[in-house]
Amino acid sequence: MTIEYSSISNQQSAISNQQSAISNQHYFPVKICLPESSPSRIIITMSTTSPPTSIREPEFIYPRIVCLAASPFSLPSDYADWEIDYYLRLEDWIPDPSGQVIFVIVNKDPSAAVSLLQQLRRHPDFCTALCYVTGAIHPEIEQLTDGALPEAAILRERFAHFQELLASFNENETAILPTGRLIKYLWLRPHFIIQPCHAWQSPRYWFYPLLDALHPDEDTFDWLRTLANQRIIESVDLIDRQRECPHCRSSHLSFIDVCPNCGSLDIAQQASLHCFTCGHVDVQDNFLQGGALVCPKCLTQLRHIGSDFDRPIENHNCHACHHAFVESDVQVRCMHCGKSSQPTDLVEHKIQSWRLSDRGRIIAVRGDIFDLAASFDQLQFIPGELFRHDLDWLLTLARRYPLINFSLFGIYFPQLPELAEKIGHARLIQLLEVFAQRLRSMLRTPDLSTRTAENMLWLLLPQTDEKGLQGFHTRIKTSLGDIMKDSDHQLNYQLIGIHSGQIDEQEDAQLLMARLYAEVK
Ligand SMILES: [Zn+2]
Ligand SMILES: [Zn+2]
Ligand SMILES: [Zn+2]
Repeated sequence: MTIEYSSISNQQSAISNQQSAISNQHYFPVKICLPESSPSRIIITMSTTSPPTSIREPEFIYPRIVCLAASPFSLPSDYADWEIDYYLRLEDWIPDPSGQVIFVIVNKDPSAAVSLLQQLRRHPDFCTALCYVTGAIHPEIEQLTDGALPEAAILRERFAHFQELLASFNENETAILPTGRLIKYLWLRPHFIIQPCHAWQSPRYWFYPLLDALHPDEDTFDWLRTLANQRIIESVDLIDRQRECPHCRSSHLSFIDVCPNCGSLDIAQQASLHCFTCGHVDVQDNFLQGGALVCPKCLTQLRHIGSDFDRPIENHNCHACHHAFVESDVQVRCMHCGKSSQPTDLVEHKIQSWRLSDRGRIIAVRGDIFDLAASFDQLQFIPGELFRHDLDWLLTLARRYPLINFSLFGIYFPQLPELAEKIGHARLIQLLEVFAQRLRSMLRTPDLSTRTAENMLWLLLPQTDEKGLQGFHTRIKTSLGDIMKDSDHQLNYQLIGIHSGQIDEQEDAQLLMARLYAEVK
């Protein structure tokens, strides 16, 4: 079918209408021919009946392939049209950051391939680039690449899709930080799951190859926790739940049975007997005299189990202190730091697989959205409705019983978006996180917190009278002052507090909070 259009301005919409009429799902290449004689006339040739293969395809802009091969190698013949540069090592290649590159790693030695991939994933400009391998793929390689090198036609499709995603990615200052790089990496690979791998050489047994490569200076598990707290990633599957040393978090632990009396290792399971006549308990061997059972203490001959003697349940003996016992104690020794601990002290650690969350995808498209809630997540806010309900309840109690008192405290941060603009989101979120940490250390277990606007926090402090409130106010001020001292920028804030004695009889939680909010705003 041939459609003729006489003006260039119609060209785009006509193409997209045709495309969507054919398929909503697939990208259809369209050939546009510009006859030399009439540059304003465009002939669009496309097929609606036959499969995409019969379409005359547009000029495909081939990305450059950088093939890293330690020994002579050439890509399959279907790659004949592609520009391919072969290098022995990544260092030999002189990058051109403006160009589009696909890496192909010829994998003959998996450990060399892994270290090459780690090098690539640390590269500031190419850490998120498409990268394929030839040869065997084990889980660690799989986590650092886009898989086995496909046929040239499939790679073209994948590259086109990759370019579309790249175009919609919001490249901002955070993309140069490890978290930004991770978001970009995951954005460009919509189905990618961050999987842990395991190795006995690794102190924690489990490790995440991609996270290690993108952020080698940070403890992966700390970084993961931060990413999960910021709701940038979400868990997919629970892979393992392991116990770790409370001192160094190693999972290489040795469990030893010891004497519950003296802690000695030198214990053994021994058959013992209990003489009913005199009550003596001793190891069985000591009862054996000339083939008969005779109590070594009272010399009674023991004939019938149950009436003359029985087996005591204390069937363990300590060779150091001769204590007989039923159950030994268990000591845990860390094979990494050498410290001992009790089994109950071990830290339980869930190993999960992860993917980019909805919030992570929003950040990928819109840039680092400012979200105070994420910085304050560690305060464990309760919903505003529940907070108001509890405040009403405390108000009723305090009015009824003179011994009950409480305080309500508000923290308002004006001009947060302006400050974010000035110092950058990353820095502002850092500032707020430091503050949230300090604030958390000041709160007691029964204290409640909520957030009624992005920049308005509320704290409900039970059993806090006028004096207590003043103290809290001073501590918050000092804390904010300390944070400001270390910073070049001013984080403006307004504090407001009221104790139960000051609250009007007529006011309920909603009215009270609205009145105080109006005062600070
Ligand atoms: Zn002992
Ligand atoms: Zn006896
Ligand atoms: Zn340890």
